[in-house]
Amino acid sequence: MKIVIVGAVAGGASAAARARRLDEDAEIILIERGAEPSYANCGLPYYVGGQIESRDKLLVAPAAHLRQRHALDVRTRQEVTAIDRTGKSVAVKNLESGEVYDETYDRLIVSTGASPLRPPIPGIEGPNVLGLRDLADVDRMHEHVTSGNCRRAVIVGAGFIGIEVAENLVRRGIDVTVVELANQILPPWDEEMVRPLEAHLRDQGVTLRLGDSAEAFAECSTSDGKLTVKLKSGEELRADFAAVCIGVRPESKLALDAGIECGPRGGIVTNDFLQTSDPNIYAVGDVAQVKDFVTSEPTQIPLAGPANRQGRIAADHIFGRNSRYRGTQGTAVVGIFGKTAAMTGHSEKLLRRDSRPYEKIYIHPNDHAGYYPGATQMTLKLLFDPDVGRIWGAQAVGTNGVDKRIDVIAMAMHAGMTVYDLEEAELCYAPQYGSAKDAVNMAGFVASGLLRGDHPHVHLSELTTESESGEHVLLDVRTEQEFANGHLNNAQNIPLEALRNRISELPKDCRIISYCQVGQRGYMATRLLQRKGFDAANLSGGYQLVQKSG
Ligand code: FAD
Repeated sequence: MKIVIVGAVAGGASAAARARRLDEDAEIILIERGAEPSYANCGLPYYVGGQIESRDKLLVAPAAHLRQRHALDVRTRQEVTAIDRTGKSVAVKNLESGEVYDETYDRLIVSTGASPLRPPIPGIEGPNVLGLRDLADVDRMHEHVTSGNCRRAVIVGAGFIGIEVAENLVRRGIDVTVVELANQILPPWDEEMVRPLEAHLRDQGVTLRLGDSAEAFAECSTSDGKLTVKLKSGEELRADFAAVCIGVRPESKLALDAGIECGPRGGIVTNDFLQTSDPNIYAVGDVAQVKDFVTSEPTQIPLAGPANRQGRIAADHIFGRNSRYRGTQGTAVVGIFGKTAAMTGHSEKLLRRDSRPYEKIYIHPNDHAGYYPGATQMTLKLLFDPDVGRIWGAQAVGTNGVDKRIDVIAMAMHAGMTVYDLEEAELCYAPQYGSAKDAVNMAGFVASGLLRGDHPHVHLSELTTESESGEHVLLDVRTEQEFANGHLNNAQNIPLEALRNRISELPKDCRIISYCQVGQRGYMATRLLQRKGFDAANLSGGYQLVQKSG
């Protein structure tokens, strides 16, 4: 068996190593356009910021290692320029010598990744407008930030790469402005979840320009920087360089030119085995269009985990193993100056876009027992099917333990579990790690209770509508002191502890919407009122969500 793999990083290198483990005699050729195979693209921002000090650390599996340990024929600085499906060969150009040659294959794996979007904005090709995809890019950016004369940078795009770059430039003492077209950072997350992170970024000195975009880059030479970035709003920002991090597009031209089917967003169409429309050719990683785990619809979600797993599965299939790709779930995490945002599955905005029925709950649990030193609070949002409780997705933002909770929920989703299963999950506990009722259990309790009708709730957005109709009483069940520090308009304060004695102060002919700080006392008040014959509901996420949503 002769396997040719185009692209030798996440998906390609994984496929090659797996193929070798499955067959000792296969001829495996790994062709990479860049100077190094298998480098850590996910680590690039941290090399820019100096967290990763040595560039060598980015070279996860150098060519020599791949040759010696896995007996792979690694060819760097060589580019595959065409696929001849009839002759089962690829045309390869040696970028050092200019030599062009053909290489035949029995099976071809395309793992060419995705290239950063570079829209035709005037000046975008200038020397001080950078991108960050590969080692060549990181060398350029590293040179800029360590040159000693770089004081200001503009980052265009507030996705996870843009935000990671922002943090790392601040680490280098650089003044950073982030420009983002959407009205929020981290567009895959829901807006209210990232509002506190925007405030956190501002606290760290990062300037945010949300709902704006770069319209032109102009090289200049002033004491304020070498570049002017003109924004749609009319504002002009001075910088020493700009980094454009506005997303990626599958690098699928090779496949398209060879008549292999590609989807509307450019990804190479694959089946569950990662085979393309030509069964001898596989596509893995960012270049592939795969199945969305939640909906089974076609999707493209460029992440390293899926790319690695797909590479493995393609190799398995080539050697007759019955591995199938189950779909990409979109489980992702990003760190922002000590805070963490993580998500899995579909966001609320995606569910709304697809008109998929959903319910949602918010909770604000501690990462570990509150009585043990160092507990920090997170906000966790769970989205689920209102009929059967199937989990559509989850997002969490906080300081500690966020990744763990999202990973647990990601796994539950993978197993097809429901919110009722989250109630029953037995998770490890000691005071410094979690709580006897873990954040994941709590999310399960609240979501399941809601579906069982134990405690109706209303969301902030519904509250505005209800307020306008004036058909409810807003009951703040926090302490008098908490109430005095801030409360919702027109709210009446009866602390939970006093509610039983003062219940006669509440009318029975309209709905009572109770709220507290995070939702727990509001829930207890709702239960109490319901038992006493009131039409009661709890404000999901409590006053804290109101404060955080800003
Ligand atoms: P790539 O890793 O991009 O590899 C494709 C390779 O193919 C490239 O090296 C390219 O040179 C080569 N190539 C392309 N065309 C040809 C050709 N014609 N001939 C020969 N070679 C070719 N994901 C996460 O999950 N978590 C993270 O924290 C994270 N951080 C990231 C940070 C940065 C800065 C970047 C850029 C990406 C990050 N990602 C992260 C995304 C992740 O790196 C990608 O999803 C993953 O690398 C995709 O793997 P791939 O094999 O499809 O493509």
